[in-house]
Amino acid sequence: MERRPITQAERLGARIEVRGNCWIWSGTYAANGYPVLTTSSGNLSVIPALWEQKNGPVPKGEVLICTHTRAGSDVCVNPAHYRPRPLKGPRRDPFGRKDRHTHEGDRQ
Ligand SMILES: [Zn+2]
Repeated sequence: MERRPITQAERLGARIEVRGNCWIWSGTYAANGYPVLTTSSGNLSVIPALWEQKNGPVPKGEVLICTHTRAGSDVCVNPAHYRPRPLKGPRRDPFGRKDRHTHEGDRQ
């Protein structure tokens, strides 16, 4: 019988626990909290790797942001739940406030 090497997709899949629509990463996490797969050439960042398998390269200057709220400490790696967003530019305030400074002396 012919043995073929385990592909990266298979190694990733072996560490994913499907929970509802979410893919919970049960493998290693880097110090910054991001899911990683340890490979012979170093740590592979799981979220972009899975997303790129499905959608192609992440657009330059953009980062992948999860479109739903994380449940507890579990990290979802389902590429369908990530969208690329510009890394730079106006930062969205999570509380919906206007992006401006307010000083006491600015009132009109
Ligand atoms: Zn999800």
